[in-house]
Amino acid sequence: MRVYIDFDDVLCETARHMSDLARELFGRQVPYEAISSFNLQHAFSLSDAEIAALMEHAHRDDFLADLTPAPGSLEGVRALESRGCELVVVTGRPAASHRGSRDWLRKYELSHLGLLHVDKYGRADRHRTADTEPQTLDLDAFAAQHFDVAIEDSPTALDLLVPRRDCLVIIYDRPWNSRYAPTANMRRSASWAEIVEIIGNGNRLT
Ligand SMILES: [Mg+2]
Repeated sequence: MRVYIDFDDVLCETARHMSDLARELFGRQVPYEAISSFNLQHAFSLSDAEIAALMEHAHRDDFLADLTPAPGSLEGVRALESRGCELVVVTGRPAASHRGSRDWLRKYELSHLGLLHVDKYGRADRHRTADTEPQTLDLDAFAAQHFDVAIEDSPTALDLLVPRRDCLVIIYDRPWNSRYAPTANMRRSASWAEIVEIIGNGNRLT
């Protein structure tokens, strides 16, 4: 079974750190629980220049290295692997963050996992990809990748998974997806323990 695991706010806690960063850089006081939009420019009321600066900081190696694992994620990954699942981290992070992302996986002994960069948000700039960075998959290349299960939190990325009728999509509960209406191939989950249970029990699509 091939399982797509999103990186930010599925494998690790990113929005909480972004909230801290927005406070440090711009004095914005928007706690994690109040992040009701996946659009951080909107959520933190930032100007174009401010969101650009925030994202630049957020993709630095040292910022990425400090992200804490999501509760139960490391145990969940091991549990899925012990059941024979092939796990692939599928991220919308730019390819420029590849080294920092890989470093994080290594830090938590997950360096054996595949790491795919997918242009989930239509922001990839292929002309700037350095030789040392992997290609970012466009949406056609992404569509050619088969997954039996996908675990995501972003409404925009969830929309990309709607047409995958044979893929069980698990929505990882976050404040910004609480109003997302699941389609027939989707289930919600509030924790990694629950994710493992859903996949392990064969609670698949019928
Ligand atoms: Mg995410």
